Amino acid sequence: MNLILLGPPGAGKGTQAQILVDRRDMVQLSTGDMLRAARTSGTEMGRRVADVMDRGELVTDEIVIGLIRERLEQGSAGGFIFDGFPRTLAQADALGDLLAEFGQSLDAVIELQVNDDVLVDRIVGRAEQARAAGQPVRADDNAESLKVRLMEYYKKTAPLIGYYHAKGNLQSIDGLAAIDAVAAEIKVLLDRCA
Ligand code: AMP
Repeated sequence: MNLILLGPPGAGKGTQAQILVDRRDMVQLSTGDMLRAARTSGTEMGRRVADVMDRGELVTDEIVIGLIRERLEQGSAGGFIFDGFPRTLAQADALGDLLAEFGQSLDAVIELQVNDDVLVDRIVGRAEQARAAGQPVRADDNAESLKVRLMEYYKKTAPLIGYYHAKGNLQSIDGLAAIDAVAAEIKVLLDRCA
């Protein structure tokens, strides 16, 4: 089973992906995590994307599609959860092509619906929690980058909602519900697809 979690920054995609990894034999593919890992390990690509990420803008399609291709080649018994990818129509087309190339299909696209006020609170809260726990705070978890990230989402990623609706894959759920309630709803949708 291959699944996309779609939604703006702070909608809970990473949290829900982690729950699915714990409960099912699925692999989470978060392009954001992969890019942060590239930065931490100081690769040439990591250095190239650093400023763009800190500003809250999207890195090039070519880079993220390359990262996803590498991971798809490795395979996953229980399937993949795409978290934060695709984020543009070109990425969505590329994902379709890659899945076909590896003999796989896309089984569901779940949109986590939330409103912007909550997103700002959640992201600022995430930064404060990390700070209080002495953990590193994401460089893009600040009000200025968040504004850009939201605008990037509405301009470039939100059109994917219509794209997947037209393909017949889209399911939308209330991302404002409690974490367990959202997880339960995702489970119902996935059990229906299985
Ligand atoms: P995330 O952890 O998903 O919020 O991603 C953090 C940052 O990484 C984003 O603001 C972008 O700069 C970059 N990024 C992550 N995934 C993508 C993607 N699919 N396309 C372009 N940029 C991405």
